[in-house]
Amino acid sequence: MQIHEGGCGCGALRYRLSGEPIFVNNCHCTQCQHQTGSTSVVNAFIESERVQLLTGAVTEHVVRAGSGGPHTICRCAVCGVAVWSYYPRLGRLGMGIRVGALDNPGAFRPDAVIFTSEAMPWVALPEGIPHFEKTYDFRSVLPPERVARLLALVARRQAEQG
Ligand SMILES: [Zn+2]
Ligand SMILES: [Zn+2]
Repeated sequence: MQIHEGGCGCGALRYRLSGEPIFVNNCHCTQCQHQTGSTSVVNAFIESERVQLLTGAVTEHVVRAGSGGPHTICRCAVCGVAVWSYYPRLGRLGMGIRVGALDNPGAFRPDAVIFTSEAMPWVALPEGIPHFEKTYDFRSVLPPERVARLLALVARRQAEQG
């Protein structure tokens, strides 16, 4: 199984991912701009049981997700760099890993560039990666194996919520 590691800016927090993400989004929505202070965010979504905290600790910071629900940003407790998030749709079952904090950020190529309608006006969109004005139907973009992994997580989330 492919192993990817990453960490925060000060080195106190280190983590390991087992396997490839389910999907990777490069999101240009105004909320992601605001929350990162940058053009966009690159998140790799993966089952939480595939993420192992090796050293360090996180502090949790709740902001509003695009859906209006709680979006919990987890940051290194020492330096405050954001390492992952929990989003309402998957709860604690899935994590959005900040790809920029991986040791090898180039390892994960986005499956989709989303919310291009809100992108900063000078941003150039990458060639060869599908882009969408808002969101997309994951079934039309992801290979069947990853669609199945996502549907399994969504089903677990629905069971959890009763
Ligand atoms: Zn740190
Ligand atoms: Zn966004």
